[in-house]
Amino acid sequence: MEKLQAIRGMNDILPEEALEWEYLESTFYRVVKSFGYREIRFPVVEQTQLFKRSIGAVTDIVEKEMYSFDDRNGDNVSLRPEGTAGCVRAADQHGLLYNQHQRLWYQGPMFRHERPQKGRYRQFHQFGVEAFGMSGPAIDVEVIQISAMLWKDLGLTQYLKLEINNIGSAQDRKKYAQALTAYLSGKVDELDDDARNRMHSNPMRILDSKNEAVRSALVDAPKLCDFVNQDSKTHFRKLKELLTALEVQFVENNRLVRGLDYYNNCVYEWTTDTLGAQGAVCGGGRYDGLVRQLGGRETEACGFAIGIERLVLMLRSLNKIPASALRPTDVYLVVVGGSLESEAFSVAEAIREKYPHLGVICHCAGGKFNSQMKRAYTSGARVAVVLERDGEAIGPLMEGKIRSLDDGAESIVTEIDNIPEKLGKFFGNSEG
Ligand code: AMP
Repeated sequence: MEKLQAIRGMNDILPEEALEWEYLESTFYRVVKSFGYREIRFPVVEQTQLFKRSIGAVTDIVEKEMYSFDDRNGDNVSLRPEGTAGCVRAADQHGLLYNQHQRLWYQGPMFRHERPQKGRYRQFHQFGVEAFGMSGPAIDVEVIQISAMLWKDLGLTQYLKLEINNIGSAQDRKKYAQALTAYLSGKVDELDDDARNRMHSNPMRILDSKNEAVRSALVDAPKLCDFVNQDSKTHFRKLKELLTALEVQFVENNRLVRGLDYYNNCVYEWTTDTLGAQGAVCGGGRYDGLVRQLGGRETEACGFAIGIERLVLMLRSLNKIPASALRPTDVYLVVVGGSLESEAFSVAEAIREKYPHLGVICHCAGGKFNSQMKRAYTSGARVAVVLERDGEAIGPLMEGKIRSLDDGAESIVTEIDNIPEKLGKFFGNSEG
């Protein structure tokens, strides 16, 4: 029978890769917790309306990329294409936003029906951070600082560039869109079908057209920065001053507009040239109008989302994951000869108790010494503990051996009860 395969663009994460993910995840948890952020979990499936009303009905994500379907009740639902909308929905529904400051983070799978390629998948994963109830630029900077701290802890700072832009308020952009449409009306002949279609619905999207003819038609187009209101400008100026004071390097890119409609004022992206075409690793900004737009009260907000797959690709290609994080286990118990299972289990337990952070595998499948040792090597353990007794011996086992698998050094022979203590030579004597 034909074997079934995973769906295109949806990846299995196998045990070796999962160790890379765990390393990244644990670093992320540590960083967000060090800033006092708390985790929130919300469903993978939401009403389609939620995404239409937040991300915007005339965006690539909502128009072309969502996994939407009628469920068995006939309700139109979608797999979440990003986390902010669900986070806002959940936080508001449970009263977390009213007159409060909230610092939240989330993590999980997102779904977009894009054309799969390296760094771009149909199921991908994001870490996100969202802060609510704070209006000044300090909170934008705090959120950016979280990402900067993460890059630092991962050893990636030098490979990532922060681009920022001020896209003003929704009203500013509305005026700008009108001006852009008016400008483009005089250039219709130079546009392609795509641009002509978008000219009235969402002209700003034409700005990232890859078509050379369209790009040259845009050369003298009005610029968004000329439409941005004074308050936004002041906010942005202070934000830049704070970033500079913190020595977070950035470049201004006034062409940076994000593919989601809910942003206002400061938006940004961290990009790298180590990944080829899919160089955006983290995107974020302020979205003060969104809570209201989804039916809540006016609430200032800002946040970012990081693409986990892209970060893992980066860490892997730059060799930034410490070997210790990639070691699947530490100690392998080789158990040769009759009826030693219960001794082996108690030795393994004693080791686990003394070194709770170590992985201890107890060979559970019998077999000869050599074949068990092979498994010990392929397990990735640093040390094998050998319990061995020949077939005729009776009575309790008195001694075991400890063998380093890293350098093949001589074995240590020791009394069974002393094995945990003697492992201190390899793993340090502390329990930590
Ligand atoms: P966005 O939600 O579009 O602002 O994306 C935030 C981050 O998620 C991007 O910077 C990417 O790192 C990541 N990302 C977005 N779409 C994909 C995708 N289809 N596959 C993998 N990562 C993605």
